Amino acid sequence: TGDDLEGKLSRFHALMMFTKVDKSLNLQQKFQVVMRSMAKHGRFLEDEMLVLHYVSDAGSQELGEKMLPELLLDATFRYEVVFHNVEALTEKLFPIVEAMQKHFSAGSGAYYSDAIFFLSVAMHRIMPAELKRIVQLDLDLKFRSNVRDLFQEFNHFPSKAVIGIAREMQPVYRHTFWQYRKENPKSHVGDPPPDGLPGFNSGVMLLNLEAMRRSTLYNQLLEPGRIAQLAEKYHFRGHLGDQDFFTMIGMEHRELFYPLSCGWNRQLCTWWREHGYGDVFQLYYHCDGPVHIYHGNCNSPIPDD
Ligand code: UDP
Ligand code: MN
Repeated sequence: TGDDLEGKLSRFHALMMFTKVDKSLNLQQKFQVVMRSMAKHGRFLEDEMLVLHYVSDAGSQELGEKMLPELLLDATFRYEVVFHNVEALTEKLFPIVEAMQKHFSAGSGAYYSDAIFFLSVAMHRIMPAELKRIVQLDLDLKFRSNVRDLFQEFNHFPSKAVIGIAREMQPVYRHTFWQYRKENPKSHVGDPPPDGLPGFNSGVMLLNLEAMRRSTLYNQLLEPGRIAQLAEKYHFRGHLGDQDFFTMIGMEHRELFYPLSCGWNRQLCTWWREHGYGDVFQLYYHCDGPVHIYHGNCNSPIPDD
């Protein structure tokens, strides 16, 4: 019976931020590209289901509910859609991330509405304990591979890793860590791959919520005092939310992060090439191997194929 199957289904959870989409044609187009490409390349087993989580406001939810059935028409797999109210999540999140916001947000204060940019950081405290793993994805992505293969990367996490994430592919953190690099000329902080630490990009993230809950170290790093201490050590002042936090703690504790290959988040933004870093840009931007997901960050166009 149907009920019998429900209980046996193995669920793969993916989450996307999905706010103000009803107000932006640009975001609606990106939503079409990411969902159509996910449907086109997605393959799951008979007893598996993809659960799509969207963090939305009322207007975006209404639009999403209307658009999704058509965007997923070609999907050969079972799926289920869950909308999460952005205000309800923000309310839970704010007390946990308030103290880090001043280090990693634009502007000087800790704006309540900015807390949601740190959802991934405290997802393990927000989502129910039954939820053990979740993949967080940007809207400006295009799949060229099966999204199920991305979930398989969880199985390669070393024992101390809690998050899987690809490196940042522009020299943005070479810039952010400028002062630390000057004071520590031998350090690899902000250097390009393969030997350097270029920081992370948050467009595609594997959150092992179970490991995040269990890791004493990770939870200590969420404490305001520890964050302030590290921000002072690295002279860190950013505005990119969760990816700044992960980049900064990654400089200190690399073992917490499983490095996804660049093909799983092939970023296309070239802004820093034209803003003082043309000489080193290619060292960061370069990515060998198959592209599984294109990331059209900073509104970059994505190749047709
Ligand atoms: N986003 C959203 N509403 C907005 C702006 C952003 O839901 O008005 C979400 C969306 O999922 C998007 C993510 O936030 O992919 C990060 O923003 P974006 O991809 O534009 O940043 P970039 O990758 O260019 O740095
Ligand atoms: Mn993006």
